Amino acid sequence: MAKSIQEALDPLNVRNTKLDTKLLHFGAEVDQATGASSVPLYQASTFHHADIFNPPQYDYSRSGNPTRQALEDYIALLEGGAAGYAFPSGMAAISTAFMLFSAGDHLIVTEDVYGGTYRLLTGILGRLGIEASFVDMSRPDVVKAALRPNTKAVYMETPSNPTLKITDIAGISAWCKQQGLLSIVDNTFMTPYYQRPIELGADIVLHSATKFLGGHSDVLAGLAVTATKELGSELKYLQNGLGSVLGVQDCWLLMRGMKTLGARMTHSEISSRRIAEWLEGRSDIQAVYYPGLSSHPDREIHAKQATGYGAVVSFDVGSGERAKKVLNQVKLPLVAVSLGAVESILSYPAMMSHAAMPAEVRAERGITDGLLRFSVGLEDVEDLMADLDQALDQE
Ligand SMILES: *Cc1c(COP(=O)(O)O)cnc(C)c1O
Repeated sequence: MAKSIQEALDPLNVRNTKLDTKLLHFGAEVDQATGASSVPLYQASTFHHADIFNPPQYDYSRSGNPTRQALEDYIALLEGGAAGYAFPSGMAAISTAFMLFSAGDHLIVTEDVYGGTYRLLTGILGRLGIEASFVDMSRPDVVKAALRPNTKAVYMETPSNPTLKITDIAGISAWCKQQGLLSIVDNTFMTPYYQRPIELGADIVLHSATKFLGGHSDVLAGLAVTATKELGSELKYLQNGLGSVLGVQDCWLLMRGMKTLGARMTHSEISSRRIAEWLEGRSDIQAVYYPGLSSHPDREIHAKQATGYGAVVSFDVGSGERAKKVLNQVKLPLVAVSLGAVESILSYPAMMSHAAMPAEVRAERGITDGLLRFSVGLEDVEDLMADLDQALDQE
């Protein structure tokens, strides 16, 4: 029998290739019907039943759409999971995953969790009877001490945001298995290019694909991957039931962005290391947070579970007043919420991503008024440092 175009063009088993290859050859990169060089946009809400006794594979786009399916299979392949799901935002993926829990359940959560996740847990899920304890996830003893009879899951974010604390994913996930808890990891900062939590024992991986995966500050999206088919079916049931699906145009844009993930991460990571070391050498910077610095307390744990240090560097300029001066003086980066794009983005957690956190809680978590978060883009690193330098020298 003649080989399909797909088989002819993809003689390798994609599951066995390296990640750089998987990013380009993920199985749906060539359209089976026409040989077209990108996934077709199935801009359709519903599908014709040619034979009422044999319903089509897809019947309604909330429940399934071939363009979305290509993206969902793509992220599952990259993360090494059983099933993937695409949501209209990172928070939609995260909130849908939290719907696995019920009133009376308790969760253990990274204390410097993404601000929106903190708001979801404290402002919405708390009202629905799902309780969360926020703990220093870099301290396994502290995590274990938070266990209650009704604890159902541990929610990790590593490196955490914005102070880049590290959680031992394999260690915590193994403990979760022993205790019968689900282990969930927000892998937005590392992406599967550098860190694959399912291979380390986690049950669910979540992404704000708005960041590095999309990579161009032009798409809002979320992704989820489950380690098992069973957990995948539970998440799918929730996604369909809640109606939380990514539109096909955005699925297409996201796949377009993801193809260059490796090239973008590699470039930005090399620049990030230089910038972090340069900042650390300055006497006018109070603290630099980057897992690639030899001064980072958990550098070794990070190096054990990830193949790169990422492209987010946080640093403390000493005061809120100075931070605002720097934000107003920089010329190259976007001054904005968000991260993980082709262009550098400088954000101010205290007034942006973590504004939803009460000031006392922020202070406890090291999110000081002088803290800036730099997402390093693809500009020339010398230009980025020169720009930061002139902004920092402004008094
Ligand atoms: C941005 C972000 C989110 C939320 O994603 P959205 O796409 O903005 O909804 C969640 N977690 C982390 C770590 C993020 O950076």
